[in-house]
Amino acid sequence: MSADPAELVAALVSEIAKLTAANAAPKEKKKPQPPVCESVFEWVADYLANVYWRPTAPSMQQRDNHWCSAWFEHPEAQGRLNLLWKFWEAAQGNDEAMLRWWKEADHHMSKLMSSTGPFSLCTKKHADPERLKVDATPAKFLQGDDPPDDDDPPDED
Ligand SMILES: [Zn+2]
Repeated sequence: MSADPAELVAALVSEIAKLTAANAAPKEKKKPQPPVCESVFEWVADYLANVYWRPTAPSMQQRDNHWCSAWFEHPEAQGRLNLLWKFWEAAQGNDEAMLRWWKEADHHMSKLMSSTGPFSLCTKKHADPERLKVDATPAKFLQGDDPPDDDDPPDED
């Protein structure tokens, strides 16, 4: 090679300047993609029901999995599946985000489908969801906006 070291350095500096300028150029903003599914109802029927199938009670040996075809009648299922749908939409085209989605889906679907989950009473057909029993709030808790705090000094009345 007979190239002058000074010319090589100048060529490299010029190349680096071009690359730096290219990287500094404002990137085109990505247009938000329209959702794949129009609603959580469409997503559950067209996507989730196809990719997240499990053998479910009562027609199976494994009695831990429960599902309700009227899932939308269960407030807990509405909440969890709506968030899973939104997460799934946002993760489209991003392998790392989809991997995180699968982990979240495994967690929430296990809660929904468990033998103690919201679908556990819907064995042959939908059964209206139960609710936790809650006693009437005692008057002593209704006097202020906040529950009593142990750090609060006693009233000096
Ligand atoms: Zn049900």
